[in-house]
Amino acid sequence: MGTALVTGASAGIGLEFAWQLATARHDLVLVARDRERLEHLAGQLRAAAGVRTEVLVADLSDRGDVDRVAARLAAAERPVGLLINNAGYAPALPFVDDDLASQEQALDVMVRVVMVLSHAAATAMRARGRGAILNVGSVAGLMATSAYSAHKAWVQTFTEALAVELDGTGVTATCLRPGLTRTEFHDRAGVDVHAYPEIAWLDTESVVACALSDVRRGTVLSTPSLRYQTAATALKLLPRAAVRSLTHLRDAIVNPPDEHPDESPEDPADPV
Ligand code: NAP
Repeated sequence: MGTALVTGASAGIGLEFAWQLATARHDLVLVARDRERLEHLAGQLRAAAGVRTEVLVADLSDRGDVDRVAARLAAAERPVGLLINNAGYAPALPFVDDDLASQEQALDVMVRVVMVLSHAAATAMRARGRGAILNVGSVAGLMATSAYSAHKAWVQTFTEALAVELDGTGVTATCLRPGLTRTEFHDRAGVDVHAYPEIAWLDTESVVACALSDVRRGTVLSTPSLRYQTAATALKLLPRAAVRSLTHLRDAIVNPPDEHPDESPEDPADPV
């Protein structure tokens, strides 16, 4: 796979991708906003694994920055053999409570960027007759959790379509669907991690090892752990009304209703 380009390499799952790929002797292009973290990581990877590392600082909600990353993927003289579209986050507020600009930014980072970078990578890789694209979705893409589920459902369907289109070209497309994984994701989203039972959590090491093994095999849907494979199968088989009820139940556990709502009994919110 040669050089790998990883978005969101400064933390969590992306950071682990960088370490496991460097250990497997892949050169790396590290993409995220936090220059200090990326340069520190690049130095560590060079020293520990002897691989070549490039730091590409980019805010993926900025279209100019996205174009710079796409140009790097298209550069014929320094071919990228593996693209990992990993950068992502859950906005801290539900869709209607949030302002539209923040929601558009999330859509850009998790949907538009995946499309633009996949296009740049697939074009260059198909011309060379080899390469792999790994897009990070989520089991949340099978549920109905805010706009985030819709973004991740798009990532899955898009990746499956890409795999069909690229079949026979030497280029593969894989969608990774992690369940809850211990990273900075939940802190950044303001989610209380204690609301979830211990059994629900995965670690980045096993998620990334499963993903890379599936990429090497050309597997299209990669769902780490038996428990989340079972959950994904159940979510696919259940009627959508049951999936929506499950999402309600999960939301009620993670965000219990405010015991002291702003509205006083004399001033009830008017649903009309
Ligand atoms: P994380 O620890 O918070 O890391 C997120 C990464 O994305 C960071 O490197 C961050 O870097 C980067 N990023 C965020 N916004 C960016 C932007 N505008 N431009 C460039 N980079 C940006 O979260 P994680 O859990 O590793 O998440 C990685 C992926 O896994 C995401 O797509 C997420 O949706 C998915 N996922 C996570 C879980 C989970 O439970 N953790 C479950 C399913 C799917 P900077 O801040 O330096 O820019």
